[in-house]
Amino acid sequence: MDFKKFLIDTKENLLNMLYPKNIKCIFCGRDILNFDKQPYCDECAKEKIFNVGNRCMYCDVKIPDDNIVCDFCKKRKKTFEKAYCPLIYKDDAKKAILRFKSDNARYLAKPFAKLICDRITADNIKIDIVIPVPVHAKTRRVRGYNQSEVLATEIAEILNVPMLASVVTKDKVTIDQKTLPYHDRLKNVEECFTLRDKEAIKDKNVLIVDDVMTTGSTLNAVSRTLAGYSNHVYVSAIARDMVE
Ligand SMILES: [Zn+2]
Ligand SMILES: [Zn+2]
Repeated sequence: MDFKKFLIDTKENLLNMLYPKNIKCIFCGRDILNFDKQPYCDECAKEKIFNVGNRCMYCDVKIPDDNIVCDFCKKRKKTFEKAYCPLIYKDDAKKAILRFKSDNARYLAKPFAKLICDRITADNIKIDIVIPVPVHAKTRRVRGYNQSEVLATEIAEILNVPMLASVVTKDKVTIDQKTLPYHDRLKNVEECFTLRDKEAIKDKNVLIVDDVMTTGSTLNAVSRTLAGYSNHVYVSAIARDMVE
């Protein structure tokens, strides 16, 4: 047997074990046939869990039809150019993300990554490096992995660029953002991220990856550490929470 073919076959088989081709809809669990083309069923495709329609040109939040920028971004000092969030954090989309985060349903990283990359490709932007929103070393030890890094790895593979997990580190344990009102969220994450490798991002177009984007405070804080070194900074999350 041709050794190269053997390696490709082995890789295919391993990938099939990790990410079976014919599996269930990532949202409702119905069997679907063409998972590679679309990882959800036709019924879920009709659901209002997709972040479509008129959205803020910066933060991807849904806004009234005649607006271009949301009220929040009008006031905010921008640290990233644009956000890509293909889903809305509700109903079955929320359930799927929670499974990905807590049930260790890591196989969902690949379909989620594809949904994000479809948005990026459609916009025709060039990404050189993918970096995940880091978690504190202590959090990582407890959880065993960083789900944003798992997602960033899949995104980087699809875009065929490097994923660099330790360019930015989180050096302060913060309170869970979900428990805080907006202004406290900003304060909570300010100054807790550090840029560790300036050379790696010098003049590069960087995509920062998180699981869910709510107020954008975390993604803003990570973006801010890159300012002055990188070229364009984009951010992405599986879903946009509509809290703002
Ligand atoms: Zn479904
Ligand atoms: Zn906005």
